[in-house]
Amino acid sequence: MSIATGELQALEAHAAHNYHPLPVVIAQAEGAWVTDVHGRRYLDALAGYSALNFGHRHPALIGALHEQAERVTLTSRAFHHDRFAPFCAALARLTGKEAVLPMNTGAEAVETAIKLARRWGYELKGVPADRANIVVADGNFHGRTTTIVSFSSDEEARRSFGPFTPGFRSVPAGDVAALEAAIDEDTVAALLEPVQGEAGVVIHPAGYLRDVRRITQERDVLFVADEIQSGLGRTGTTFACDLEDVVPDVYVLGKALGGGVVPVSAVAADRDLMDVFTPGSHGSTFGGNPLACAVGEAVVELLETGEFQQRSRELGAQLDAGLRSLPAERVAAVRSVGLWAGVELTEGASARSVCERMMELGVLAKDTHETTVRLAPPLVVTTDEVDLLVDTLGRALA
Ligand SMILES: *Cc1c(COP(=O)(O)O)cnc(C)c1O
Repeated sequence: MSIATGELQALEAHAAHNYHPLPVVIAQAEGAWVTDVHGRRYLDALAGYSALNFGHRHPALIGALHEQAERVTLTSRAFHHDRFAPFCAALARLTGKEAVLPMNTGAEAVETAIKLARRWGYELKGVPADRANIVVADGNFHGRTTTIVSFSSDEEARRSFGPFTPGFRSVPAGDVAALEAAIDEDTVAALLEPVQGEAGVVIHPAGYLRDVRRITQERDVLFVADEIQSGLGRTGTTFACDLEDVVPDVYVLGKALGGGVVPVSAVAADRDLMDVFTPGSHGSTFGGNPLACAVGEAVVELLETGEFQQRSRELGAQLDAGLRSLPAERVAAVRSVGLWAGVELTEGASARSVCERMMELGVLAKDTHETTVRLAPPLVVTTDEVDLLVDTLGRALA
């Protein structure tokens, strides 16, 4: 069922080899399903790493895209356009923050948050010039820029890419005492994923986010939550921080914010923080363009119904129960929250081969870290499709 070697070589002939895709060539998609060039259908259990939370080509999002494409698609920020303010207002409403700075990719939004935290540190907290540090967690994934890989603990993400940007300290994930100990008078932020996605859906111990919130408040340090993958419905709440009723100082958003249609990312924070940015200090040619704003606003409107968060909670409980019924001699652990799961295989198993078998059986999922199968189906999946997903994983493991 997988594609021939010659076909594969042709696909990669002129492409950089920075990815190792499953051997499937997608030509079309709708909702939770994709169709390959041979007309074979697959259930999408990855959803573009949560960029496709609303499924492929959600009518409301494609409608917003088409309508905007007929009007104006790009102005640059040299001029105002009529979709910018409504998008910023919508996202401010959703996050409960006063101000929004739109960018394109997740990594750009993380870079924006790092700049915000540093400037806040120097200009408001009073950290001496060039001394700011930011505390991060081991196993983090915040993107691929040279600064961001500077504080990655993934050797392959860093190898031969130095020299690295200083000013970051990494502490064990989920360890409050280590985080507190790493904070000093020059610490400007704790930058954390509320749930570590790329690490394999690693969920912090209960109370951790609340402790981080308390400590950062006590020590005059910003809590920057990278909700690029965990936010916008994936965990059964609008933001993963909501699971512990925690409100960070800065939300970093991306992936699903573009509805799987266009790249849209953003940083949201209150006015006193956001105003560290002044004209000329930061920007992006494409950030906040009319097409992005039209789609992003439609995404917020979908989330404001609460329907997707509820589906994520309910179907997530079904997914969790299903995964926990898989044979213990194959599955060492299941970590799940909402419609998001990391299935840890027993020692020696290859998550890649399991994903290849799942593909042959008609379900697309993605391995991470050799022994973890990561599942993140679109939030539009049905109960039958969740059963199909669990059943297919079971068959691939057999
Ligand atoms: C995907 C991701 C990023 C990077 O987003 P890109 O759009 O790929 O640059 C950053 N942080 C988290 C938590 C992510 O999951």
